[in-house]
Amino acid sequence: MSENYDVIIIGTGAGGGTLAHALAQSGKQILLLERGDFLPREMDNWDPKPVFVEGKYISKDTWYDRDGKSFQPQVHYFVGGATKLYGAALYRLRPQDFGELKHASGISPAWPLSYDDFEPWYSKAEQLYQVHGNAGEDPTEGPRSEPYPWPAVSHEPRLQQISDDLAKGGYHPFHAPCGIMLNEADRPRSICIRCATCDGYPCLVHAKADADVIAVRPLLDRPNVTLLTGAEVTRLETDESGRTVTGVVVSRDGNREVYTGDIVAVCAGAANSAKILLNSASDTHPHGLANGSDQVGRNYMFHNCKAVAALCTEKNDTVFQKTLGINDFYFATKDYEYPMGNIQMVGKSNAEAMRGEQPDKTWFAPEWGLTDAAEHSVDWWLTTEDLPVPENRVTTDSDGNVCLSYSPSNDEEMGHLYGELKKILNHTGMAAHHVFRKNFYMDMAIPLAGCAHQAGTCRFGADPATSVLDTDCKAHELDNLYVVDTSFFPSIGAVNPALTAIANALRVGDHLRSRMA
Ligand SMILES: Cc1cc2nc3c(=O)[nH]c(=O)nc-3n(C[C@H](O)[C@H](O)[C@H](O)COP(=O)(O)OP(=O)(O)OC[C@H]3O[C@@H](n4cnc5c(N)ncnc54)[C@H](O)[C@@H]3O)c2cc1C
Ligand code: SF4
Repeated sequence: MSENYDVIIIGTGAGGGTLAHALAQSGKQILLLERGDFLPREMDNWDPKPVFVEGKYISKDTWYDRDGKSFQPQVHYFVGGATKLYGAALYRLRPQDFGELKHASGISPAWPLSYDDFEPWYSKAEQLYQVHGNAGEDPTEGPRSEPYPWPAVSHEPRLQQISDDLAKGGYHPFHAPCGIMLNEADRPRSICIRCATCDGYPCLVHAKADADVIAVRPLLDRPNVTLLTGAEVTRLETDESGRTVTGVVVSRDGNREVYTGDIVAVCAGAANSAKILLNSASDTHPHGLANGSDQVGRNYMFHNCKAVAALCTEKNDTVFQKTLGINDFYFATKDYEYPMGNIQMVGKSNAEAMRGEQPDKTWFAPEWGLTDAAEHSVDWWLTTEDLPVPENRVTTDSDGNVCLSYSPSNDEEMGHLYGELKKILNHTGMAAHHVFRKNFYMDMAIPLAGCAHQAGTCRFGADPATSVLDTDCKAHELDNLYVVDTSFFPSIGAVNPALTAIANALRVGDHLRSRMA
């Protein structure tokens, strides 16, 4: 079976789904190839047991670490990709993130484009994904040409109290930018009901601004857009010169199918995009497609993250907790010479989710069950930038499986950020409420399988010797191959990556529309 399209997009997540949305108006024939299906709408969407304990929506994929040990990566193969489960914290990178930054473990390199180049696309991305926020509260944010399209999601009383305490302590808490379709001015007609099962869960009522609901679904009635689900791209074939992709090989329902497109955009997520390119080695591209520089798969980043539950005597009855952020330690401070990162809230703990994440951590309070702990916890998420280390890389084995070799960077910075969080809690009134004489924080580092923020495996740049993609995200070595997902990041900053992937997809979409005009 062979058909020709103007554009073939592989993957429908933040990158691919948004790219399709950007191109659909052009009238060009677009084929979307998605290995997953639509995520089923069912009560399990909002049940922590199937979601966190049983991992119902995590792919059955097996990846291997550098010692050949298998693990199940926390990746999600659905229309909408990882955004189906994401927390919808939609941050812009800081302007300085686009320049070179010195870190404790090394250098975070400069991007070939600046914040100013990305700014208009960030604004468009915020409009499309209905981001709620209050400009001007976060002292580290860059200038913006447009206000947030929606007012910030309000704090519930406990979070408002924490925010007030922080402000009194001299910190600069801000309302976290958030892509949920909540209309607080008209709650009866708001699509979002402001529930406790958002961060890490699919949204049963389709009120989360994910790539499925926002970008892909609205295109499905268009005659020029075709979506094939259950369509796993296994390989790309080129002409004899090696400059043009001529065939997209798909495994669907156990059959091999080949599609052709004038332009092919790989948007399968950082690890899987590298996998597709590496598994497409040929005589003209012996080390993998577009890999003459040996950069495909290298510089894998996924953030140095820690989830921290601070346990207090007073109950925390917050429902939607992800409303507050702190960037006071994003860059160097007078006490520490390196950037530390971002502090934000994470979805409210509940006993089932805690059981799924930390099954053996009940030692901290034998008299408390996990339910008590969850009811009393205030839950924080710490992110420190990890650096693009060439040895942190995706390769594929002889069966084509992903092998992930990774060592963390910037552990020292994360240690300092954790120290700052403890100071925050102690200095802003929460210490007095702690259950234990010694303050207690239950912290969880995110293991290798927690690859939610994966990025960097096909970085863009001006120099073909050190990058895979040019500044339009076209492969240096091919004329019609693009990679449009988080793979293009030369560095990852310390804020969540999806808005940057979305903004970039809109930017590349604009380039492709001009190219095809
Ligand atoms: C639980 C969770 C919470 C998160 N929270 C946030 C947050 O609050 N804020 C934020 O900014 N980011 C968050 N993220 C990260 C964010 O979702 C990702 O950065 C973003 O979705 C990456 O976009 P992408 O296009 O690179 O990949 P994805 O969105 O993962 O899309 C890749 C797509 O490609 C498909 N695919 C893969 N291989 C193939 C193949 N061979 N053939 C065909 N299709 C293929 C996949 O099924 C998927 O649909 C979170 C992620 C998770 C998992
Ligand atoms: S908070 Fe809103 S967007 Fe999030 S899962 Fe609940 S209803 Fe959906």
